Amino acid sequence: MTQAIVVEKNGGPEQLSVQNISVGAPKTGQLRIRQTAIGVNFIDTYQRSGLYKIEMPFVAGNEGVGVITEIGPNVSGFSVGDKVTYQGQVGAYSAERLLDAERAIPVPDGIEDQTAAAIMLKGMTAYYLMFKTWPLAKGEAVLFHAAAGGVGLIACQWAKAIGARVIGTAGSAEKLALAKAHGCDEVINYREEDFAARVKELTNGRGVDVVYDGVGKDTFEKSLDCLRPRGLMVSFGNASGPVSVPDLGILARKGSLYVTRPTSAHYFADRQSMLEAANAVFDVVASGKVKVEIGATYPLANAAEAHEALEGRKTTGSVVLTP
Ligand code: NDP
Repeated sequence: MTQAIVVEKNGGPEQLSVQNISVGAPKTGQLRIRQTAIGVNFIDTYQRSGLYKIEMPFVAGNEGVGVITEIGPNVSGFSVGDKVTYQGQVGAYSAERLLDAERAIPVPDGIEDQTAAAIMLKGMTAYYLMFKTWPLAKGEAVLFHAAAGGVGLIACQWAKAIGARVIGTAGSAEKLALAKAHGCDEVINYREEDFAARVKELTNGRGVDVVYDGVGKDTFEKSLDCLRPRGLMVSFGNASGPVSVPDLGILARKGSLYVTRPTSAHYFADRQSMLEAANAVFDVVASGKVKVEIGATYPLANAAEAHEALEGRKTTGSVVLTP
């Protein structure tokens, strides 16, 4: 039996219940791993609350790292004792788990377990947002919302390394200082200031080339006012609630804008594109251009506390659970 955080009913963090579950032997194409660190992501809260539908009951979480303890039939290229990480595989909040070998990513030497758990989902998201959704070029200006968050701190440093001008928003003075120290050229407290007016001022009325918005409902419409004509709005999350666009004409009125609502599953559908992204993340971390900030760690059994902090806007950088 292994300790796991199970969701049996949608709701608040109180629905994360600590249970002992049986993991079983790996089936065809699977690995069994003993986890050493687990990443906490906002998507975990959407699955728990029911914003993203998922079959009940389920073990929460989508990202982790661990050591292979058993290998199922028809798996090649892995050995017992190998360290692997993964993202986008539900069932992460557990001391041990089964994992599809197709989704397992070898961890290179020099990357610590907590770091791997902190950067796979968030780092690979930052990668596809800036290299695939919009191939960000030197000299372009971007606005990144929640710049001091998990995806935010990684993405802003990476955007800066590419040579972009990075404007970040965050919700407190402490978060603004952190964002400034991690890639942002300029920062805006969007709880206090009209961020669209400030972006226009900072860009001499032109607007930015791209807005990356994981905040959603509270920032979507105003973010359109931050874009230059024919700029791209990348709405990639819903931390404040989901976005709906009742009138597409708004895009014409605000400058013939483009909008996309991407999700990582469509960018990492095959193993090759997944490994390309993972290796890009490992490389940029190894180069020192992206420093990994783990804002908080919690014991696995305290996952509910981690969700409360994340949804309460109390966290910075990545949050990690330790089994
Ligand atoms: P973060 O660490 O960025 O936490 C979310 C942050 O959003 C908070 O810290 C807070 O920062 C800000 N925020 C603004 N309004 C609210 C609100 N009402 N409630 C809670 N938070 C709010 O989380 P992650 O790094 O895990 O994820 C960031 C976003 O990226 C999420 O929306 C997530 O769903 C999305 N995402 C999307 C992926 C995709 O493929 N589409 C993949 C991975 C993540 P502040 O206090 O500074 O405002």
